Amino acid sequence: MKKQEYDYLLVGAGLFNAIFAYEAFKDGKKCLVLEKRAHVGGNLHCENIADIIVHKYGPHIFHTKNKSIWEYMKQFCEFSNFVYRPLAFYKDELYNLPFNMNTFYQLWRTKRPKDAIDIISLQRLNLNNPCNFEEQALSLVGADIYNKLIKGYTEKQWGMDAKDLPAFIIKRLPLRFTFDNNYFNDPYQGIPIEGYNEIFNKCFQNSNVILNADFLCNRDIATKAKKVIYTGTIDQYYNYCLGQLEYRSLRFESELLNIPNYQGNAVINYTDRETPYTRILEHKHFEFNNRSDKTVITREYPLKWSIGEEPYYPINTDRNNELYMKYWEKSKEEGNVIFAGRLGAFSYYDMDQTVDRALSLYQQIKLE
Ligand code: UDP
Repeated sequence: MKKQEYDYLLVGAGLFNAIFAYEAFKDGKKCLVLEKRAHVGGNLHCENIADIIVHKYGPHIFHTKNKSIWEYMKQFCEFSNFVYRPLAFYKDELYNLPFNMNTFYQLWRTKRPKDAIDIISLQRLNLNNPCNFEEQALSLVGADIYNKLIKGYTEKQWGMDAKDLPAFIIKRLPLRFTFDNNYFNDPYQGIPIEGYNEIFNKCFQNSNVILNADFLCNRDIATKAKKVIYTGTIDQYYNYCLGQLEYRSLRFESELLNIPNYQGNAVINYTDRETPYTRILEHKHFEFNNRSDKTVITREYPLKWSIGEEPYYPINTDRNNELYMKYWEKSKEEGNVIFAGRLGAFSYYDMDQTVDRALSLYQQIKLE
């Protein structure tokens, strides 16, 4: 049999394959990377505009509970001490997020935890087993917060009724009875000071990377490697033969403004149903940038996904999860193709989970 030129063909140059490539290189393995876009880095890719680092595909803040993942990531870049503190804009009022004592004060003028707890207890749905997003949200925070800060944002973000969405999505957000606007409960958090591209340049420096290359139009290239790690969507890989999975897409509209400061915060969420975008990012505030006298803002619009659009979020309804499992079963017939990453695994991963899974997969298969 012909000896393959590469140990791994990595389809997609996002975070999962970047970490995989780096680990493989340390063991002297050879990787060929195929990327559809004109750059590596997936949705973490940054661009420099007017001396401002712009997160081209939405805000990305690295955060984790896992000390070893944090230490691992620090070998690729220096992280700032950025703490994510988005605001919510609802019908001309501003509220702090996540739901905390500042939010409760803005909503009800409550000053003590007990007063806020009393109001929420009166409003909460008392359900033992909330079985969809709406039930879960109403049982966690009650009607006021749900109606002002959650329902409109969620239904436009996902393009679905909150009753049809899975409950786990709302559990991503903390609810706390302290005056603390940190969006994450994780002890480690930051953004690469030079932007995310540095991580990818380091991880892929020893791989053979081909940009603007669609694996699905050139599947024979798989014969060049012993194994394929595929981080695109599994249903497209199989030509949707068992049916289409659902994803949510996004559209970004960016503007360079001739003012130094537009909204005074990195992110403001628009939580009403009527405003067509979900959030406005002001990129310079991700990096404490006082250099530029201009500013770049991006409006993030949720978009219905259809074939040909970029899939950003898997929609983890029961129907989609069951269909995914059928594709997963089918993929076992392949032998040398592994589906991974947020799209390949059809999972709403944060970056630290992606890194963790890439490290585990490499450990698991490196001796095969
Ligand atoms: N969410 C909300 N209001 C907000 C922010 C988030 O209702 O102001 C809900 C919404 O359903 C969203 C989910 O919480 O999809 C998870 O939010 P997160 O900020 O983790 O979303 P991401 O940044 O991954 O898009």
